[in-house]
Amino acid sequence: MASSIIHDTNPSGNTLFAESAKDLLLIEDNPADARMVEILLQETDLINCKIVHKLLLKEALELLETGIHFDAVLCDLSLPDSRGFETLEKLLTRRPNLNVIVLTGYSDKYLGLKAIQAGAQDFLVKGAYDGEMLGKALRYSIERRSALDRLEETQRLARIGNWELSLSHNNITASEEFFRITGLKQEKRTLQIDEFKSPEHPLFFLHHIHDETLASGNINKELSLLNTKGEICHLSIKCRKEPNSEILYGIIQDITESKNAEELRHQHEVAQQASRMKEQFLASVSHEMRTPMNAILGMSNLVLETELDSEQKNYLKSIKQSSEILLGIVNDILEVSTLKNGSIEFDKKPFNLHDLLANLINVMSYKAMEKSIEFDLSIEQNVPLLIKGDKLRLNQILYNLVGNAIKFTDSGKVSLYVRNIGKKEQGAMLEFMVEDTGIGIPKDQLEAVFESFTRVRHKDRLFEGTGLGLSIARSFVLQQEGRIWAESEIGRGSRFYFSLPFEQSCSEDFESQNHPSEPVVHFDNSVPFSLLLVEDHKLNQLVARKTLEKQFPNIAIKVAENGKEAIDILQTEKFSLVLMDLQMPVMDGEETALYIRNEMPHLKDLPILAMTAHAHISKGEQYKKFGMNDFLLKPFEPQQLYDKIIKYAKI
Ligand code: ADP
Repeated sequence: MASSIIHDTNPSGNTLFAESAKDLLLIEDNPADARMVEILLQETDLINCKIVHKLLLKEALELLETGIHFDAVLCDLSLPDSRGFETLEKLLTRRPNLNVIVLTGYSDKYLGLKAIQAGAQDFLVKGAYDGEMLGKALRYSIERRSALDRLEETQRLARIGNWELSLSHNNITASEEFFRITGLKQEKRTLQIDEFKSPEHPLFFLHHIHDETLASGNINKELSLLNTKGEICHLSIKCRKEPNSEILYGIIQDITESKNAEELRHQHEVAQQASRMKEQFLASVSHEMRTPMNAILGMSNLVLETELDSEQKNYLKSIKQSSEILLGIVNDILEVSTLKNGSIEFDKKPFNLHDLLANLINVMSYKAMEKSIEFDLSIEQNVPLLIKGDKLRLNQILYNLVGNAIKFTDSGKVSLYVRNIGKKEQGAMLEFMVEDTGIGIPKDQLEAVFESFTRVRHKDRLFEGTGLGLSIARSFVLQQEGRIWAESEIGRGSRFYFSLPFEQSCSEDFESQNHPSEPVVHFDNSVPFSLLLVEDHKLNQLVARKTLEKQFPNIAIKVAENGKEAIDILQTEKFSLVLMDLQMPVMDGEETALYIRNEMPHLKDLPILAMTAHAHISKGEQYKKFGMNDFLLKPFEPQQLYDKIIKYAKI
């Protein structure tokens, strides 16, 4: 039999629509019927088709197998090599999205209806259609098919599929995406219910869905299933039955990605919460450690001032030095937890950079000398003398970098270079470089040293430090919009760089800052005065009492164990100053100060100095909110305490 014949039904393109010809596959063994299709299509201006004609189903299937595209397929259901409904099934099995219109004889019209239920787009009864009807059927089916294709595309993107259960035919018809989601190979769109009755079948779960929907009319639920690849997939399923219909409509959505993302988000939140709790824990532990540290350092200071032989003095100095190192570690831990909580504020006050560097040289040269290494500083001409910024933080970064350079250098030299790389008139971008000839850092750890608790392991060397200094320095630099980085070569030395923006300052700024409005108080050592010490910690009571009595021989100190006791004493006795711990049982320092300021107006001029191991008190001048005049951060040097007392005690 003849194979492929190609006809253009309307070569002039004379249709209602200016469009290119549609590709039509005609599968018809009867030459007269095939000719009739051609003639009728020439008659209508509804569509212009290029027809490829095949006489047998086998030939048509072979052609489809090549992947060639057809806008529509017109197919006789009784062909020499395939008869009836089976013909359509074979076509749709190969290409489930094919736009098929079936041609039936008058006597088997019912076949046409069945074909539509099985996925055909339309049916025409041979001899009963004219050109207009054929043109319309083809055009509508093409439009419908392209709408369906767009819908399927949308379903694919949204990972939503749908299916329908026909109770009368006991089968389901489903969209492409339904098959993709359930992991079932899509051989045909319609499946008989019996085909998935085995519990191992990927669609077995549908039985429960159908039963529940039939019972309640409407369900909306989430399921987790093992897909055919053995992976867990999460599905959202909506299914409903209209009251007077024999169809079920189901919608299935693959929500695995969003579920996994939700799970990740949850895990992330839990991790963040754990990290917050860790920071809080560290903050409170370091606070708890500062309180006894105050007693240790205070006692060491007191004993150092007594009659001691040189051996005793040396032992005591070692205790004091070790305590100071321990205090440095505690402070670092506290600083890291503050940084992680993001609660840091930077100063923008004028200061003299050269003074700061001179101080650094004084302290660090001494340390370098102890190790017999050189230490020098070079400042480029263009570096301004007076700048505005956070002096304390700059100091801390420099102490850390120079301290490390000296610590990790056993011979040679440590140098600090400062230059201005800024271009602006007003501002300065200062670049600091700390260079050493020390042990160096392996290249692959140059980034890691800026992480918390990272210390590079070197054979023959014990770990020195906590590994927090550089992480704090990096946070300080980054949060002030600067840059920090390092270069190093093992055995030859390291270079640590950082750059920070500063505003240039003028001498007027500087003078106004250096001349506080408060008058300087001159203190006469011999004048008697009284002080109320509010402190619950016994050793710290002793340290404060002894330290004060040493400096002020005429001082009368009364001790209150807590805020409540202090208020009772203040009702009847007069004092020149109150020195108040913040964390106390019964009534804490903040509450007590507020009470004095609000409820005891006659004491409005009584100076209250807070003593605390909690660094937060200095933030934003918190202590002022509670009516306190100033604060001392424990552990403090005796001189700091004396200075504040002289400043505030009006005697
Ligand atoms: P630490 O307080 O322990 O010194 P840092 O965060 O300041 O912690 O430094 C982390 C680690 O980086 C150090 O333990 C050390 O291994 C390495 N490191 C830092 N600076 C230098 C340097 N100049 N030379 C060699 N190693 C260094």
